[in-house]
This record gives sequence, C-alpha cells and structure tokens, in this order.
Amino acid sequence: MNSHSHTISVRTNHRIEAYSITGQIENVVTRSNIQEGFVLICCPHTTAAIVVNENEPRLVGDLEKMVEDLIPWNKKYAHNEIDGNAASHMVGTILGNSVTLPVTNGSIDLGTWQSIFLLELDGARTRQIKVKVMGE
Ligand code: ZN
Repeated sequence: MNSHSHTISVRTNHRIEAYSITGQIENVVTRSNIQEGFVLICCPHTTAAIVVNENEPRLVGDLEKMVEDLIPWNKKYAHNEIDGNAASHMVGTILGNSVTLPVTNGSIDLGTWQSIFLLELDGARTRQIKVKVMGE
C-alpha cells in the first residue's frame, strides 16, 4: 500500500460559496501514480465543509441558498459572543469536513454528474484542503 499526501490551498470569494475543487483533486491523484485505492479529501477548518454534487450553476446557487436555510442564522447562539459565526460552525458539523472516494484506473471514480466542492461557510478566506491518496 502506497500513500501520497498533498495540501491544496484555495481562496474563496464569498461568505457562502460552493467552490469546485474537482480539477485540483484530480491533479493530486494523477501525480500520486496510484491506480487502485481511494482518496481522502479533508478540510481542516471548522467553518467549511466538503461535499459531492453536481456542478450546474443554478444548482450551485440553490446549494448556497440551502446553507442559509439549514438552520436559523439569526438565532442567539452562545458562540456568537466570541466571534459571531456559530451558524457557520453548526452547518459545518451537519455537512461534514471530509469525503472519501474510490480511485480506479488512476483517476477519481466519480459519477457522471458528480463534482467535489469545498463549501465555504464563513468566507471570504484562504482554505487548506488535505488530500491523501492510498493504494497501489
Ligand atoms: Zn467561531
């Protein structure tokens, strides 16, 4: 079993933003030379998430609206007394900070309509994404 680790960095532009990282993750998998295995994509931040879905512009807008509707953003949360972003943390816990995907024949085995997104929940910020490819 071989492993290859890489950290990519992206600059988000909006407070809530679905940012496609599919191409950057594919590049890491290609450079790893791993043909069969899996790739872990993990965001080491508490106000961002990693999700897989369709990169269709109107749907991307719908996903960004979904983030606003998942929980009441204007409610009085205790953490808001510290830095005002409790809702971002809470949506991050609901959506999760990592996904694991199969690597087959040297590339990510995504469904036809699937893309990988960093979901920014408290931007704009520079975000790191840890990528670990494991296999043979
Ligand atoms: Zn916070």
